[in-house]
Amino acid sequence: MNEDDSNSIKNFLLSYGLKEEESEKNSDIIIINTCTVRQHAEDKALSFLGSLKKISTNKKIFFIGCAAERLGEKIKNKFPYISYVIGAKSYQKIYEILRNELYLSDHLIQNTFSLNSKISDYQTISRGCNMKCSYCIVPDVRGMELPVPFEKIIGDIKKKAKNGVREIILLGQTVNSYIDKQSSKKFIDLLKEISKIDEIKIIRFLSPHPVFFNDEFFEEYKKNHKISRWIHLPLQSGSDKILKKMRRGYTIEKFKKVVDELRRSDPTTSITTDIIVGYTDETEEDFNLTLAAIREIKFSMVYCFKYSPRFKDKDQLTITNKELEKRHQVLLNEVKKIAKELMYERIGKTEEVLIYSKNKGITISGYNCCIIDCKNMKEGDIYKVKIENVKNNTLYGRAI
Ligand code: SAH
Ligand code: SF4
Repeated sequence: MNEDDSNSIKNFLLSYGLKEEESEKNSDIIIINTCTVRQHAEDKALSFLGSLKKISTNKKIFFIGCAAERLGEKIKNKFPYISYVIGAKSYQKIYEILRNELYLSDHLIQNTFSLNSKISDYQTISRGCNMKCSYCIVPDVRGMELPVPFEKIIGDIKKKAKNGVREIILLGQTVNSYIDKQSSKKFIDLLKEISKIDEIKIIRFLSPHPVFFNDEFFEEYKKNHKISRWIHLPLQSGSDKILKKMRRGYTIEKFKKVVDELRRSDPTTSITTDIIVGYTDETEEDFNLTLAAIREIKFSMVYCFKYSPRFKDKDQLTITNKELEKRHQVLLNEVKKIAKELMYERIGKTEEVLIYSKNKGITISGYNCCIIDCKNMKEGDIYKVKIENVKNNTLYGRAI
């Protein structure tokens, strides 16, 4: 979502004729769009901010996003060269401020969509989150779930499609809980409506929450092949005790039911997930349950995060950093092994590949894919490809 927001701001400035600079040194404006989901992300943003000190004279420096929301104006005490602090909850303010600061009012030179012609693009469908996962700072810094109106989403995607986008990635913290109260349109209605746009070939979404899957979705998934066959489904832990403490709202059994249903609907489905290791009170036994779950479910990829406490007064780390590192490493090794096995299982199978450029693209199941001996592949088209090999996390195959 930060990537999408950054792109929107960038496109906004480009549309007024501003130029993107590679180096901060030569820039008049620097906008730092920040994340704070883990302390590490915030530390990176602050260290970058610190590095600007020497070159900050006569520059407009914007510190925006989730870390800006968490730290607030007081961050200016430490970094007085910041011009504006704009938190994630009021991110829209940046457009107004930029317009005023840069006297942009009458100089719009192009519309934003023609600036970025790409095959794949994001579409934010809701901001914020109504869940209350105990470890997570997102609801605090982004606020309650706020859906983008249904018609606006469809209109935006149609424009993107006209400009060459073929794969759309719907974004929301719990993307499948989407409901536009005014029109009563839900996530499933969005999927159906977007599917009617001819140019859009693949609809992906990040991240669905296990509790918001229902039979209506599975039915649509079975018959609608524009819906991505790669589903990112965050599990977080394989231990029911930890899941309960995290307030995720499901047990491991319930999670597995969603996975089974997806695979029953389409056995080619590839599922990825997020895991947090070392959350408060995670014992060796709980961790082993996570390992068992990832072995059983067989995720194509797992994004493994070391638990990073975000609140001073609750849910602290209860294992040593050494133990945290160890569990993280054990998990990573296991994840890599399984991911590799699953990739090799795709050899000999036929995959649909959306071409991004030249002979490279992405399978509908979410793997990078290179076409061997390709001739005249058209960017944005889908080809059936027989997979022959695996190298560096990429599938290699021939178009058939
Ligand atoms: N809304 C998404 C997650 C957004 S945050 C969802 O619920 O799936 C992305 C990922 O960051 C989460 O899935 C979780 O695995 C991780 N994460 C969130 N808070 C964290 C924390 N305090 N420490 C470590 N990882 C965290
Ligand atoms: Fe955070 Fe995702 Fe839970 Fe919302 S659903 S509180 S964003 S982890």
